[in-house]
Amino acid sequence: MGETPKKTLGLETSEPAVTPPSVDVEKTIEKKPVNPGKNRKREIPQGLWTKCPSCSEMIFDRELDENLNVCCNCNHHFPISAWTRINSLTEPGSFLEIDESMTSVDTLEFTGTAAYAEKLEKHRDKTGLKDAVITGAGNMGEHKVALGVMDFGFLGGSMGSVVGEKITRMIEMATENNLPAIIISSSGGARMYEGMFSLMQLAKTSAAIAFHGRKGLPYISVLTHPTTAGVMASYASLGDIIISEPKAMIGFAGPRVIKDTTQSELPEGFQTAEFLMERGLIDSIVNRSEMKKQLTEYLDYLCLNVGNQTIAEA
Ligand SMILES: [Zn+2]
Repeated sequence: MGETPKKTLGLETSEPAVTPPSVDVEKTIEKKPVNPGKNRKREIPQGLWTKCPSCSEMIFDRELDENLNVCCNCNHHFPISAWTRINSLTEPGSFLEIDESMTSVDTLEFTGTAAYAEKLEKHRDKTGLKDAVITGAGNMGEHKVALGVMDFGFLGGSMGSVVGEKITRMIEMATENNLPAIIISSSGGARMYEGMFSLMQLAKTSAAIAFHGRKGLPYISVLTHPTTAGVMASYASLGDIIISEPKAMIGFAGPRVIKDTTQSELPEGFQTAEFLMERGLIDSIVNRSEMKKQLTEYLDYLCLNVGNQTIAEA
């Protein structure tokens, strides 16, 4: 009995069935990745490269930063933070923020999948912003302009009472000081966590723009991906000139809702900037790298007769 080799689950007592390979098996096994798929991903350290969702090219993050978050290969416009955009549009050191400490109040004490108060806190930490818009005044070429820039990174650029109030105050400041106004929009619409208070902002911002316009002052609206719902239904669509970045999604309700409501097939390219420019809603589509130059040219033209303060006069 003792002579019979004890059968074990391990293979160490069995004779090899074939000639053992000359390489050191143990070492090879050690080196062999447990999950090759996982390791392949690890070869691309996070935060160094970004895959372009449009052309699938891997872009070096530094290259993307230097190109204002636009793909050098296919011109895909990635989202950009409000501060990066302000710095790309205004003369260095000229931008002065207003109402920078205004913060949202959880009036309705809203709780859904997460409490509104918690969501606000999380997005303040993530973005370093107090809410989804930065407003102020700065110099763009020869012109002093009132400027509002939305940040989609803060709760989807949604418009609650703070966004509405900051936009309104900025427009009123422009009206008082005879300044042209520019708003760069990027928004999923009214902020549902503030219910009716968000919806009131549509009327308030639109009224402020109407008073600004009555004084003969120009307002340029710049639409970026995506500009939808309550923001598109108010100040974003009220520009004397409406510009968009390429391929931005622009609309009110989403395509699925419209398809279900109208019970009809939607045309190709529906709700893109290009589609809307063909139909006259958008005046021009401008690449991000050309935006400052283009806006300055429009201001040169629009401010000819409105007594706009230039830097030399101010
Ligand atoms: Zn690309």
